[in-house]
Amino acid sequence: MSRRTEFVPYRPKTILNKHKRADHWFWTRYSAYPYLGCQHGCEFCYCREQKFSPYQDADDFAYLIKIKENAPEELRKALSRAKTDLIFTGDYQPAERKFKLSRKMLEVCLEQGFPVFILERSPLVLRDLDLLKDIEERARAVVSFSIISTPDSSNYAHILEMERLAPPPEKRFAAMEKIAAAGILTGTSMMPLLPELCDDDANLESIIRWTADHGGSFVLAGGLTLSDQQRDYFFSVLGERFPDLLPAYKKHYPKGSYGSVGDNWRKTALRIRELCGKYGISDRMPRPIIPGDKRAKNKKIVEILANKVYTMELELAPKHRVWAYRKAVWAIEDLEQDIELVYRTMGFKGLQSIENIGPSLGREVEKILSDLR
Ligand code: SF4
Repeated sequence: MSRRTEFVPYRPKTILNKHKRADHWFWTRYSAYPYLGCQHGCEFCYCREQKFSPYQDADDFAYLIKIKENAPEELRKALSRAKTDLIFTGDYQPAERKFKLSRKMLEVCLEQGFPVFILERSPLVLRDLDLLKDIEERARAVVSFSIISTPDSSNYAHILEMERLAPPPEKRFAAMEKIAAAGILTGTSMMPLLPELCDDDANLESIIRWTADHGGSFVLAGGLTLSDQQRDYFFSVLGERFPDLLPAYKKHYPKGSYGSVGDNWRKTALRIRELCGKYGISDRMPRPIIPGDKRAKNKKIVEILANKVYTMELELAPKHRVWAYRKAVWAIEDLEQDIELVYRTMGFKGLQSIENIGPSLGREVEKILSDLR
């Protein structure tokens, strides 16, 4: 018997999660979501982890949806005190049709001049295209669609079953096309790239081709993670409904592992890079820069160097070199002054006065600054 969805009103004390600095995938500094739980109920969803979904029963995650009734007001209060930066927000599960909290939160972002990043499995996000266009004009907006398979993929039926109530990928691609036509940066997040189901060459190429054909500019990939109750839940689903996959998953995710073991992920990421090149798109998301941002150059340099860190990781560069770059990236992200101004007033010495920037990285930053002029 199918289970009925219950909506539970909830008034959290805070809504905005603040991170020390922007991440290097989506470039988001903040996150704020209107609902707890997700009716789409994808079997692999990391949000079933205890820390995100403190439910007694992991299956409640898809049926007991907590509605953060005060989310727009709390967001307004929090943003009025926060530095302007990119917010990861929006949640277009079916509950959104009724409660419209994602829309109200976007209205707050627009009013406060904050850029937004949305990651979705539902085309319902198109309902708010008017607002997204206004946000794009004032502060920047990005919509990425979570897509891990296309109708031409050999495991498509399995993926549809695993994504349960999420609208099918064709609808997400159709929405991507409309978002791109509206001038808003869009692309695909292949997350999670399920081993044995999504990481074959034909599927990777198909997703990248569909993305390019529908106006997407990037394809990001991320692996499946498994932890505590979410891990138990996922393995029980495999055991009951996909027993043929169980031995392979036990090998990829031995007891105690969070990500998959081995080097497969890196090889897949290199292949994705190659395929993105073939279709003229990127395997990294361009960093949205807010119009008039005083620290626009700092952010651009961070983007270039963080992309280099990613390449170094893919190419197995020595760990100490990767760390040297990573620390430099953080230092530039944390710099309060415009780095161009620092360079113009103090020259090369000014760049070297930034924490973790030595002579060699200083020269590299100097070159990027000159290229950006
Ligand atoms: S749509 Fe996203 S948040 Fe919802 S269940 Fe699927 S993976 Fe989780």
